[in-house]
Amino acid sequence: MNPIILFLFIFLAVMTGLTIALRRRKNIPKQPRAIQKQQRQMLWWIIPIWLFQILLAFKQHSIAGMLLFGGIIVLNIMMAMRKPNRSEEIRNYREDPTKCGRCEYDLTGNVSGVCPECGWAFPAADVVVESPQWVGWWKKWRIDYLDDWRRTLISSSLAMLFCIICGAYAFLSEWPFALIVGLGVVMMLINVIRIIQYALRATDAN
Ligand SMILES: [Zn+2]
Repeated sequence: MNPIILFLFIFLAVMTGLTIALRRRKNIPKQPRAIQKQQRQMLWWIIPIWLFQILLAFKQHSIAGMLLFGGIIVLNIMMAMRKPNRSEEIRNYREDPTKCGRCEYDLTGNVSGVCPECGWAFPAADVVVESPQWVGWWKKWRIDYLDDWRRTLISSSLAMLFCIICGAYAFLSEWPFALIVGLGVVMMLINVIRIIQYALRATDAN
């Protein structure tokens, strides 16, 4: 069996197992700030894994594999390093109202409604925020709220396009690999359809 696929299967199995185990123990952080911190720590062992995958792909002369794992590395770094958006700042604050949602400054006893350190305005209690759970179509098909559906639609479509290109490359020579990438494309296509449905509802309401 192709070592890239074997390795990928083992990796996915370990990740799925870990996620289920952590969820049982309810150790998964909810705060976007804590999640990002965890993502930054994970880079130390996840980047070597993907680099190893690129090396395997290189040895196998698999352009699709090198492209895909290179793309995954870039995506992982971007996710771990990017600045939190307004929704994430609000979710930080809701999980822990004693600290500023943006800069983590201690807000105990603050009544001004504004962080004295960075000027961040506290959100009203009824402000709707985007939940990262929206991607889980198997839990709930209808998307409740997106901060910016145009941005989400563009980034989701680009990610799908990238996987289609990798899959198309792989299709000619490495069909089991193409199958895995193809499954990813189907998952992404489902969400692109849901975002478009959301956009249609949102533009209807305006
Ligand atoms: Zn602040």
